[in-house]
Amino acid sequence: MIVVMRLGHRPDRDQRVTTHVALTARALGADEVWVSTKDPSLERSVKGVVERFGGDFTIKTGVEWRKAIRSWDGTVVHLTMYGESLSEALPTIADDRLMVVVGAEKVPREVYELAHRNVSVGNQPHSEVAALAIFLDRLKGGKAVERDMKGRMRIVPNPRGKTVVDGREGKAREGAKR
Ligand code: SAM
Repeated sequence: MIVVMRLGHRPDRDQRVTTHVALTARALGADEVWVSTKDPSLERSVKGVVERFGGDFTIKTGVEWRKAIRSWDGTVVHLTMYGESLSEALPTIADDRLMVVVGAEKVPREVYELAHRNVSVGNQPHSEVAALAIFLDRLKGGKAVERDMKGRMRIVPNPRGKTVVDGREGKAREGAKR
């Protein structure tokens, strides 16, 4: 069980980035994303992707992060550019009962103390989406991103155009060639 805890979401400014955090969590092998601020529209858009593209993925918004981190019965890894190095930390992190915390703007000091591990994906500032993607990809040995999510909509790899199989129609639909 892997949960991604997204802190500091501002519905008016962070919709796009938080959606990307959620979709990245789903595509790279997390089971749930929890968002610290209530945002029904964010929930709807992520649920829509799950409904079409499959996977057993849940989104919860309005989650009180302090309580969630404190009561987590596994390991809490906070991703931050100031943390210990990913390659050194990774062999000691189990991927069951794992909470991965990512921030938005400034993360409260308390998070660094509550987390069991503060881990950096390089020590340069970049993005919560990039940090999460690299962390999960390494944790899962590169395999999660290629798994079959058994969705109603399936994309068939195509070197030129778009091939989409819609389970309702039961046949492949060819998109415009680029
Ligand atoms: N000063 C912040 C920090 O502590 O990493 C950068 C804020 S950044 C806009 C938003 C989030 O991206 C951070 O809270 C952190 O979760 C993630 N992040 C950015 N760069 C990172 C890095 N090099 N390693 C791990 N996480 C990073």
